[in-house]
Formats: sequence, C-alpha cells, structure tokens
Amino acid sequence: MARFLFWIALLGLANYLSNSVFRIQGMVALQLTYALLLAILLLTPRRQWPAYLITAFPMLIMVRALAIGSLSELTSFFALVSTVTSILAATAGAAILSRDRDWVEGRSDQLGAWATAGFVTVVVLPLVCASIFAAVRIPPPGYSSAEYWFNVYSNVALAYLVLTPPVLRARPRQWRELHRSGKMVEAIALIAGFGVFAALIFKQPSVLPLFLILPPLIIILFRVGFIGLSVAMALLVPIAVLLTGTGQGPFHAMDNLHVVGGGQSDANVHHALLFCRVFLVITFIIVVMIAALLHEREQLQRLAQADRDIYEMVARQSGDMAFVCDLDGRIVFISPVTAQVLGLGEGALGDFDWRNHIHPDDLGIIDAALQRARRGEEDVDCLFRAFDADGNELWFENRMRLSTTTSKEGPRFIVGSTREVTVRVLREQQLEKMAAVDVLTGLPNRRQLNEQSRVKWRLAARHSDFLSLHVIDIDFFKTYNDVYGHAKGDKCLGEVASAIRKVLKRPDDFCARYGGEEFVALLPGTDAAGALKIGEDICAAVRNLNIRHDASEYGIVSVSVGCATIRPAFADDDGSLFEAADAALYQAKRQGRNRVVASNLRNLMIEAALVAMPKRHV
Ligand code: GH3
Ligand code: MG
Ligand code: MG
Repeated sequence: MARFLFWIALLGLANYLSNSVFRIQGMVALQLTYALLLAILLLTPRRQWPAYLITAFPMLIMVRALAIGSLSELTSFFALVSTVTSILAATAGAAILSRDRDWVEGRSDQLGAWATAGFVTVVVLPLVCASIFAAVRIPPPGYSSAEYWFNVYSNVALAYLVLTPPVLRARPRQWRELHRSGKMVEAIALIAGFGVFAALIFKQPSVLPLFLILPPLIIILFRVGFIGLSVAMALLVPIAVLLTGTGQGPFHAMDNLHVVGGGQSDANVHHALLFCRVFLVITFIIVVMIAALLHEREQLQRLAQADRDIYEMVARQSGDMAFVCDLDGRIVFISPVTAQVLGLGEGALGDFDWRNHIHPDDLGIIDAALQRARRGEEDVDCLFRAFDADGNELWFENRMRLSTTTSKEGPRFIVGSTREVTVRVLREQQLEKMAAVDVLTGLPNRRQLNEQSRVKWRLAARHSDFLSLHVIDIDFFKTYNDVYGHAKGDKCLGEVASAIRKVLKRPDDFCARYGGEEFVALLPGTDAAGALKIGEDICAAVRNLNIRHDASEYGIVSVSVGCATIRPAFADDDGSLFEAADAALYQAKRQGRNRVVASNLRNLMIEAALVAMPKRHV
C-alpha cells in the first residue's frame, strides 16, 4: 500500500511539473508522466495494474487542471483524449516490455533488449500518441500540422528515453550496491559536476560546445555504470529543455528565424526546443548503445572467468595441473594446484620454469612431445620424471595439443594437463619386474631370455662379434626330488642358480632360468674357447657346492652343459644357436653327465655364413 501511494504521488508530482514548469508557451515541452507510468507498471505485478490505472486516470486529470490553474480543463475534450491515449499507450508498452523479465529486473543490459525497448518507446508509442493528438487538436498558433505532430512525437519519445532507464535501473538495490562498492561519493560528485557543466553548455549561445556533452557522459558510464548514466541523463534533459524553453542556449543560434526576425517569438522557441529534443534523443541513443556494448563485454569477461573457475575446480578435484604455454614451452598459465603437487611455496608459480624440475634424462621426452604438439598432432602424451621441492623423484603423465583458435594469425598456444602418476608407475614397474623374474631362483625368466637373445644377437651381428650360449641342466634331478623331497629340491635349484651367476662376471653376461632344472647363459663377445672354459667353470662351481646326492653316480649334485658359439652374419636370431647348444647338452648327458660339450661350431658358423652370403649380394 505504501508503495502504491508512493508511486501514485510521484506520478501526480511528475504530471504537475510537466504541466507547470515544463509548460512552455502553452505547450508541454517535456511530458514526464506517462514514461513514469510505464516504468511503474513494469515494476509492478500485472494483477495490480488495474488499481494503478483506475486511480491514475482521475488523479491525472485533476492534477493537470490544478497545474494549469483552470477548472474548465477538467471537462476539456483534449485533456480527456490525451490522458486516455497516453495511459493506454504506456500500458500497452508495459505489456510488451514486461515479458523480458531479465531486462526489467536489470539482470541483462544486452543491446538487443535495449533496442526492443527503444523501438517500442521511441518509435511506436510516440507515433501513436502524436498521431492521435494531432488528429484531435487544432495546432497552436505558428504551427503547421506536421510541426505540431513532430513536436508531440519528440516530446513523448524524449520523455520515455529519459525516464524509463533511471526508474528501472536506479532501484534501491542498485544504490545500495553502489554504496557498498564505495563509489557513492564519486558518483554524486561526477553527476553533480555534470549537471553544472550541462547547465553552462545550455546557457551559452554557441553550437560547438554541445559536442562536449558526450565525453563526460561516457566517463560517468565507465566510472559509475548504467545507474550513473541514467541519473545524469535524467538531469541533463530537464536542464536542457528548461534553458532552451526560456530562450537561452545554443539551439537558438541554430534557428534562422531568430537571426532574421529577432525577438523571442513562440515559433522560434518551439523550433529551438525541437532541435534540443532531437539532439538529446540522439545523444541518449548513442550512450545507451555504448552502455549496452560495454555490458555485453563485461558479461563475456565474466563468462570467461567463470569458465576458468570451473576448469580450475575440475582440475583441483582431479589433482590435474592445467597449463597453457607458448610454442617454445614458456608457461603462460599454470593452475595453482601445481604449487601444491610440487610442494612449492605461495607465489612460486609467478616465474615458474618447469625445466628446473624435470629429470635431466627426461627433458628430451618433453621437447619431443612439444615438437609433436607444435606440428598440430592431437593428444600428445608423454611420461616423465620430475623432482618436487624436497628433491623426491615423482612420475608425471602429460597430455597436450595446440590450442584451437578462431583466427589464423595471432599467437598460438599449447594447452594441456599434467597428472602425477608416481604410485601407478611404481606399481607397474614392480609388476613388470615380477613378470620378468623367476621367483624361486631370482634369475630372469624365459620372457626376458627371449628378449635378451634378440637384443644380443642383433648387437653381435652389428659388431660382427661372437655370441656364445650355454644350456645347463642339473643331472638326475628327478631322483634328487624323489630322495630329498621337493622343498630340498627347490633349495638346491636356488643354490645352483647363484653358483652359475657367480661364474658369469662380465656386465653383459646374461643368465636365465629356462624352465624346470634348466638354465641358459648368453655371453656376448665370447668365442668358442672362452665358452668352453666358462662351461667347465660352471660345472666346477656346481660341484664345489658339494650338495649331497646319494642317488647320483657322483654322490653330489652336478650339471651337464652344452654350449655353442656363433658370429652372426644376419640380423635376426633364427634359433640355430640354441638348437646347437641343446644338441651339445644331449651329447654331454650321453657321454656321462657332469661335463660340458661344445657344439660342432665349424658347421654352425659355415651354415651362418651361407645364409648370410646371398643377402650380401642382393
Ligand atoms: P637328467 O640327468 O637326464 O637331466 O635327469 P633328470 O632327472 O634331471 O631329468 P628330468 O628332465 O627327467 O627331470 C627333471 C626334474 O626336475 C623333474 C622335476 O622333478 C624336477 N623339477 C623341475 N622343476 C622343478 C622345481 O621347480 N623344483 C623342484 N624341486 N624340482 C623341479
Ligand atoms: Mg631337464
Ligand atoms: Mg636334468
């Protein structure tokens, strides 16, 4: 109810002022009432509109008569028609514009919303009002019908322009916000200063200073925002209209009648007012457009910031470190969670150089990945080690790619994310080790043997060097198990394995458990004589363990060894070396065990040479 009375009283006051202060030479120069009514309706729920309209109509008629000071105005046909028309126009405008609640409530100041509001209030409503007024009223003296029409049109349009924005945007909430942001004093100073400035410009007679009106309005827009701009405009319009209406200011200099005829005729004041209104409308349209564009830009910036916040939050949640770097790998942005992961202090990311943290052996991996990303490859992955602030070695997984950009020119960036994967990598490494090692003896297993024989074969082929292979088999092991049990058998296997390993002293020597009680040794750079010697050493080493084996004809555990040597002339291991050593082992068993037999090396090497020769001539 208080709200209702407040608005009705304000509406009455606006009508009184319009019909007294702004009534210049028999015509209202600035009709504030109906623009205010439009704004009030927009801020009021529709179901309350009838109450406002029913109260407003008789009140406005009475206030108008009171302001003019003539009781006959109460029954004037023109008063009736113009009031009804204006009320209906404002109501229709409110009905159309109230659908965009975001614009009404000030949540959106987009150009589109203001353009619609402008079209309705500056084009449609004044057009309807001016046409109806012109139809029912004989133009005042000195006016053609067209001039009268345009006069009403510009009057109504200007009123809507000047009143709708401040009533909608200078709501108590916005004032409170302005107060909270500590800009209130600046706002009042700027707007008051602008009022004085505007008064000076509209008092002096030359045209050029008019252009100076725009810059301060834009400054107010930038400093105080839309609310400041609305108030400044609401101040500017009455100042300009009143001064022009009382024969002062630059618009009189524009009017030829003034120059030719001299004197303050009604017509030349009205002409000046017309110019003045057109000027104000154009000024207002320009600043509202700038304001709307500014608002859209701010909105975009806020969205971009929100985007970054969401990204950062997701990254923090997953522990991933998002980064943006230039094409040379210099960090442009890196998410703050990085400092946490690397145990760095606050602010350490300011001039963060990731190269200082990467394991020197892995710098090449990252450079290669950057290179691939630069070439435009998508989802370039790499795995590398880095050190945290305490010097702990951590594993990281990195995925990156060239940023997508809308313009072809301009700087390009590499974007990506890094994840700490130390636990995973260590577990994988452990699993891999477990998969490659024989649990019982601690020797590499068959899988590693296959891998190593391929590698050592190739190396020997490249350097045309010797490669020797031993197959070692424990003698009468089945009976050992039978006599002493499997547990003792297992223990014996372990002891034999370490005895064999001790014989092999060169770093490149390799020994694996082939399966059961059989072992294989691979000795690069060892010729046939050397291989035979090592074979004998192995036999001796096992004998020296002196493990009792009553069921063996030797009384202790012994091994038989078959060995073979080759100087590979072709790139890939074809299995011939193993076959030859295995054949030699068979011979050793046949000859009575506990001994080493070398394969017929000459045959094997001739065979190898024969295979290689045709290749050489290809
Ligand atoms: P030879 O002198 O001809 O080599 O006779 P052998 O009994 O050693 O040969 P054979 O291949 O017949 O027997 C191998 C035995 O090795 C069979 C199995 O009992 C034993 N063996 C294989 N793997 C293991 C193991 O992991 N632990 C134990 N305790 N024994 C094993
Ligand atoms: Mg065997
Ligand atoms: Mg055996």
